[in-house]
Order: sequence, then C-alpha cells, then structure tokens
Amino acid sequence: MKTLLLTERENVTGELESMTDTPIIDVHCHTAGIGAGGSGCFVSPALLRSWKYRIYLRAFGITETELLQEGDGLILHRISLGLEGSSRVGAAVVFAMDGVAGERGELDREQTEFYIPNEFIAAEIRRYPNLLFGASINPLRGDALERLDRAHADGAVLVKWLPSIQHIDPADRRIIPFYQRLRELGLPLLTHTGEESSFTRSRDELGDPERLRLPLQEGVTVIAAHAASNGRNGGEPNHQRFLRLCAQFPNLYADISALTQVNRLGHLSRLLKYGELHSRLLYGTDMPLPSTGITSPWFHAYRVPPRTLVRILAEKNPWDRDVLLKEALGVPAEVFGNTARLLRPLLQGEAQTQQNETRIESEKTDQSGF
Ligand SMILES: [Zn+2]
Repeated sequence: MKTLLLTERENVTGELESMTDTPIIDVHCHTAGIGAGGSGCFVSPALLRSWKYRIYLRAFGITETELLQEGDGLILHRISLGLEGSSRVGAAVVFAMDGVAGERGELDREQTEFYIPNEFIAAEIRRYPNLLFGASINPLRGDALERLDRAHADGAVLVKWLPSIQHIDPADRRIIPFYQRLRELGLPLLTHTGEESSFTRSRDELGDPERLRLPLQEGVTVIAAHAASNGRNGGEPNHQRFLRLCAQFPNLYADISALTQVNRLGHLSRLLKYGELHSRLLYGTDMPLPSTGITSPWFHAYRVPPRTLVRILAEKNPWDRDVLLKEALGVPAEVFGNTARLLRPLLQGEAQTQQNETRIESEKTDQSGF
C-alpha cells in the first residue's frame, strides 16, 4: 500500500514537472461537508439556512441529495476530476477546517459554523495524487501540538486558519509554542487576511495583517490569504498594513486567490505593481468561489482585450479559466510556479518519509522470513 502511494506521489511530481517548467499548484482550495458518509464534518444550523450554503454546494456541481447518498468524499472526487481536466493546474491544496476552541480547549460546537476534520481530509487525499493536505488546527485547543504533529505525519503541506470565523487572534502570545512547532516542522501557516464574507458572522478585526507580526517574528512562513486586499483596521487599509509587514519580513508571502472577485476589482493590479513582491505571491483560486460567478471574466471586460475575453469565456475548466484570466490581468509566469517552489521541500520530504517507511516495512518483512 505504501509503495503504491509513493509511486503515485512520484508520478504526480513527475507529471507536474513535465507539464510546464513552472508546475502550477493551487494553494487555496476549499471543500465542504455535512457529515454524510461518516465524515465527521458539520455545518451550523445558521449556515445551513443561509443562501450561501446552497450557492456553495452548487458551485461544486453537487446536490445535497447526492452528498447524502455518496458521502462528503464526493466533493473531493469532483475536485480531483476537475484538476485532471485542467491543462494548466496540476494539483491543489485542499483545506480541512477546524472550529472554535472553548474555554477548556475543546471544540465548541455551538460557536463553530463549519467543521471539516483533518482526519477526513488526510484519509480522502491519499486516494488522489493531485490533491494535497491543508490541515486546520485551532491553536487554542488543549491538544493543538499533538494535532499539529499528527497532521505533519499525515502529510500536511500547510496549516490553514480563518481567524475571524475560528476566533483565533494570531497575536495571542499563548500561541507561541504552536508557532515554534510550525517553524520546526517547516510548515507554512496560510491565514485569512482582510474581511470575510462567506459565512454568516465574522470578527473582522482578527483578519488584521498587523496581528501576523508575532508568527513572523517567531520565524514562521506566513501566507496572507488574499493579500489583505480589503477592509480596514487601526484607521488604515489592511492592504497598507500588509505592505509594511512585507518590507520587514521576508518570510511573509501572500496568495492571489479571490482577487478577481467582483467585490475586489482592481486589487490584483494594485498588488502586482510591487514587482519586488512577485517572488512571494502564490497562485491560488479559493475554489469553489470561482465557480459561483462572482469572479466572472465579464467583470474584467474593461481591462482585457475582447479577443482574450472570448477565449477565457470559452474555457470550461474552472482552473484553466482562472489561470487565463489572471494571465490576462498581468500575473507573471513566476507567480504561477511559486506554490510548487515553496512547498517542494515538504513534498519531497513526504516522498522521503514514505520511502523510509516502505524500507522499514520491507526490512521487517525480511526479518520475519518472507
Ligand atoms: Zn478561502
């Protein structure tokens, strides 16, 4: 089994290498779950009632009935198929989603709007060589460090937070041991910056990029999701606060997911003006949001030549359409390859670990006389 996995991983790395000299990995891809098939996922009653939930499911091209019949794993299967159909993007990091931690460091189900356990994502992802594991751990959980070690052992390539929804203050000094462990493991922290509008309630002050100063000082590789492109804190735009940190910390990266959304027009070109940051911008989509229509190429018709627009609109694969649109908006080739470059040590490390495990297993087998 392990040998098979290793071969699969090697294949995907090989495929990625041969696809283009800058293999494209989507660093920001969501899945969803309602608990079907014993996944352990849940959605709060408020979010279940919200129109956002229906739109979200529809964006995956899946009905609630299908999920109930086939289980939450169906969405990961669809994501993997979508990537297989993409001629540009070879793999995506799919996120688990931890909940709010209660006073005793336990999962507070009442306060949690959306929960996708690491165990579910880690197990599903093993079935698809083009999916990578984005773990999610609330650092205020009593067993956060154990969870982090387990996620790393299960092949996580980063840890994802949505502070405004998970009620995590990245500047909370109680988190320092968690940051130190992240640094030791070489795991990046991808965390939402700016305002958040996909859920029913949000504590937007926690998306203030200035709060990332603590993990940055602790030497963690931090990826500011959406490059803090919207909202304000401390009397200035989050964007400004993000740029200031970039100048101070070379370990601060950002993803360009969601920056083509209708409510963020102009944010991508504003960010791209800073050429010195291009090596730290990572390609990401925020799937399934690009399939909801809010990133429609039509919104960019005023800055994309008509012929290019027609070509983008004709593209049916959501990843290929996203790449074409971002290319047309001036995203340089370098940015598309940055996720693979940043994650390479972890991806190779995983292959290495699996190789070792395989070797140990075969040694064991030898000793037992086979
Ligand atoms: Zn997202």
